[in-house]
Amino acid sequence: MRKRLAALTAVGAVVLGGGVVGASNTNPPDPLFGTGPSGSGPSVPDCPVGQFVTLDQSTDTFVCAIETTPVPPGAVALATDAACPVQGDLEVAGADPDGDGPQEAPKTFTDPTQMKTLLECILPLAVEWMTWEYGSLTPPPEWQSESGTLLPLNFYYVPTGVTGGGDSWADEHCVYDDTSEQYCPSDGNIYLGEQQIWADYNDHGDADVYGTISHEMGHRIQQVANAHNPNPDVPNEEIPSENMADCFSGAFLVYAERQGYIDAVASGDDLIDLFVGLFEIGDVLGAEQTHGTIDQRIRAFFVGYNAPTRGVWDCDFYYTDGVTIVPLDSPDTAVGQTPVTTSSPTTVPVPTTTQSVIPAGQPGGPTTVADLGKG
Ligand SMILES: [Zn+2]
Repeated sequence: MRKRLAALTAVGAVVLGGGVVGASNTNPPDPLFGTGPSGSGPSVPDCPVGQFVTLDQSTDTFVCAIETTPVPPGAVALATDAACPVQGDLEVAGADPDGDGPQEAPKTFTDPTQMKTLLECILPLAVEWMTWEYGSLTPPPEWQSESGTLLPLNFYYVPTGVTGGGDSWADEHCVYDDTSEQYCPSDGNIYLGEQQIWADYNDHGDADVYGTISHEMGHRIQQVANAHNPNPDVPNEEIPSENMADCFSGAFLVYAERQGYIDAVASGDDLIDLFVGLFEIGDVLGAEQTHGTIDQRIRAFFVGYNAPTRGVWDCDFYYTDGVTIVPLDSPDTAVGQTPVTTSSPTTVPVPTTTQSVIPAGQPGGPTTVADLGKG
């Protein structure tokens, strides 16, 4: 969610009066898991379709205003109910010619322009997953959602060469381009750039794309659940939110695995690619750090992945300031405590092999850097 700050910094600076530059995080994220407060900035409302977030100067609060350019120029809306032309695994289509690893196998998708189709193959499952996690797509009433939906208002595909948002559209909007992988709180949309999705898929396979989509959907849930906005002038405030979003990725990956879309059992090739990528990402410690360390990101992924049933319930403990992503009327609600999970619905088989199996020293593993959840 790095770019969200760029989008909201201008208005945020008004609220904060510019007097806190260099302030330190007085309640830094826990070093082991990267848990902590959701942020010291204000909450940003999740505006309904046709509106976006702006600052009410008279009250110094963020409010929803009518959107004059509802469709981001150049971006293409992704369908969440399209029929996928590929049956089963979206990655490996043929044999491994060198016999030295599944990542050598020909890919099902072979060109960046096919990434729209790839995304539209995954999005229906992502919507199904979120519906299952919460029982519906309607936010719990105590969140007082203005949009009325747990899903982003749109999933937008940004074709190669397209750039938009920011000053070219309106100051309050997030900048998007073909490398975007971000949820934008000011307009409620997820932007997925063709070149970045292609790089992720080509280097690490489809599991990386599953991870990216669900990470950004996690940021959407955080906003709808009234998480506080990280103050851009306070170092490290985004880390708990980012680790929680990685936890959402683990929850979606195990859901997809249970449904047979991800190979975690036969050859495990999807997970091998993803694990190797997880070992290679993570922010460097310091004031500029916004995401978790490698160690924290791997832990976060497995918190969601190893959850017996509803993974995102188990992600709730990442916030320690009373913000909860679990409905208050859920028996699982226990902020800051180990959640109690409920039984799986009959449509989702109870997994038998979801032990944490972080592989060490993968022979023949890919060497490029994964970008699970850059945004
Ligand atoms: Zn993020």
